[in-house]
Amino acid sequence: MDFSPPDSEIIAHGADIVAALRAIVPDGVVSDPAGLAAFDADALTAYRQKPLVTVLPRDAEQVAAILAYASEHGVPVVPRGAGTSLSGGALPRADAILLSLTRMSRILDIDIENRCVVAQPGVTNLAITRAVEASGFYYAPDPSSQIACTIGGNVAENSGGLHCLKYGLTTNNLLGVEFVLMSGERMRLGGKAPGAGGLDLLGVVCGSEGLLGVVVEATVRILPKAPATRTLLAAFSSVPDAGQCVADIIAAGIVPAAMEFMDRRCIAAVEAYSAPGYPACEGVLIIDADGIGAEVDDAIARIGDIARANGAEVREARDEIERGKLWAGRKAAFPAMGRLAPDMLCMDGTIPRHKLPAVLARMGEMAQHYRLGFCNVFHAGDGNLHPLIIFDTMKPGEHDRAEAFGADILRLCVEVGGVLTGEHGVGVEKRDLMPVMFTEADLAQQQRLKCAFDAGGLLNPGKVFPTLSACVEGGHMHVKDGRVPFPNLPRF
Ligand SMILES: Cc1cc2nc3c(=O)[nH]c(=O)nc-3n(C[C@H](O)[C@H](O)[C@H](O)COP(=O)(O)OP(=O)(O)OC[C@H]3O[C@@H](n4cnc5c(N)ncnc54)[C@H](O)[C@@H]3O)c2cc1C
Repeated sequence: MDFSPPDSEIIAHGADIVAALRAIVPDGVVSDPAGLAAFDADALTAYRQKPLVTVLPRDAEQVAAILAYASEHGVPVVPRGAGTSLSGGALPRADAILLSLTRMSRILDIDIENRCVVAQPGVTNLAITRAVEASGFYYAPDPSSQIACTIGGNVAENSGGLHCLKYGLTTNNLLGVEFVLMSGERMRLGGKAPGAGGLDLLGVVCGSEGLLGVVVEATVRILPKAPATRTLLAAFSSVPDAGQCVADIIAAGIVPAAMEFMDRRCIAAVEAYSAPGYPACEGVLIIDADGIGAEVDDAIARIGDIARANGAEVREARDEIERGKLWAGRKAAFPAMGRLAPDMLCMDGTIPRHKLPAVLARMGEMAQHYRLGFCNVFHAGDGNLHPLIIFDTMKPGEHDRAEAFGADILRLCVEVGGVLTGEHGVGVEKRDLMPVMFTEADLAQQQRLKCAFDAGGLLNPGKVFPTLSACVEGGHMHVKDGRVPFPNLPRF
């Protein structure tokens, strides 16, 4: 992966930038090499880079002042939540301020009557559910990283999770944000009352990967806990049979609350890691049905019949403890696989569900071609694949082979009518594959939108877009001393 070289002029002014940030956030600036090492990567650890400086504001006023300063002095800014991005979205730059939102971690309002919570961006996903569960509510999007990832990061990535099949991604559960533009201006989009007029800028902001502005407050919908939930485990002796079972369940008009797949290799890794009690087989589906009792009983009976018709052995979790164990195993899949090799790439393509059997078979062939270990774990219900490629960067050629394998998987997803990313975002990881999915006109229009929010291209540069658009041609991009930022990146 090619990264544009840092701007040496900005680095030369590092001490001035640190001093200016200290004036804004006296107790929250990290500039020593040891401190900065803690921020040198997100969860895509194949890429590392220390930031110029890290600043940890406590409130929206400080965020606005930081961005206004950076804008005035032409200093790039990389927003960061908990740093769990798997696409390198929060990867720092040597010439950029890393803006960490983790100290803005207060829940501002719990409004049970209007079924929503207002939170600062650094509140963790799970903390929202914890704050309302005693009242019988929860926040539905549940990434496996929910114990750590922040709501600001969830909004920026439009994150999903195990239960998004039925309850939607972040965008379907986000009611409003307060957003700070690169200029330091603050804007409010949406809020507790639904249906604001005008263009849907909230929809634009959700999933914008830190490229358009900084989320300093989020208002999210909370849901009442379903009165009944039952969980099935279906064990298959063939992966294509499991894929067919998923397609058959959806085709029958059943919408499970969650439907997750793990293959043999993943099952073995998870069993060795946390012993959730999965059977040894080629693949398992874990399926939740929720709702009112009679409805759940009917769904579970039909799902069980369909799974058995596809050759599965089916068992049901007997109680909450067993349910918890089955799901804890699935949520531990990434860390469990991480024990098999020093490095891992987690892909994130989404495909039409009926293509699952063919795509799974093709991925097996690719793994042989690239001579790399991999396993399949994915949100089966919505066709969102997370093949995990394991490798060792220290072994010559393995990193390059892993990247090439991953790129081939994503090309295959697009080829069969799917998309490059289901929920992890583009970041740096899929940046150079964007032309596989989007035409030049598509990309140019997306970049015009970026220019409308951030004309100087200062927010999270080098992410998402394979090239810089000609903001300068539209009269937007800042030209200083006859030079535009990142001169080595090709422009349209
Ligand atoms: C073990 C593991 C399991 C995971 N499981 C899932 C899963 O099931 N579903 C899923 O969708 N993802 C999953 N992820 C990916 C990741 O947790 C999500 O993308 C998450 O939303 C990132 O949140 P974060 O706070 O860590 O953000 P970061 O990683 O810090 O940042 C992510 C992106 O958001 C931007 N950003 C962060 N905060 C803000 C803000 N306040 N304003 C503007 N931009 C901001 C950053 O610039 C960056 O582009 C998983 C990751 C791991 C490590």
